[in-house]
Amino acid sequence: MPSIEKHVETSRRRTGKDYLELHEWIDKDPTRKVERHDITKIFEYGKMVEERYGPEGLQEYLQHIHDDFIARFNHVKEDVDRAIADTLAYFGVKSSK
Ligand SMILES: [Zn+2]
Repeated sequence: MPSIEKHVETSRRRTGKDYLELHEWIDKDPTRKVERHDITKIFEYGKMVEERYGPEGLQEYLQHIHDDFIARFNHVKEDVDRAIADTLAYFGVKSSK
């Protein structure tokens, strides 16, 4: 998943502000990190974030969740692609790619 520094860089590019405090709030506390990335809680947390950081902050919060998800998805995709290639190789089947 992208580091806090990477999220900060994305926010800075998008908004001109780093939103460091927000990204640290989402990622830094290991006991609360999972719930702060939980999409079933984005209304509850989104409301809180908007009250504190305004609509732009809300967008950066959602963008953070989105970017983490895409990074995780890409890892899973790589694992599946590798598993398929390994399995085809194991069975001696030539990949159609
Ligand atoms: Zn995160």
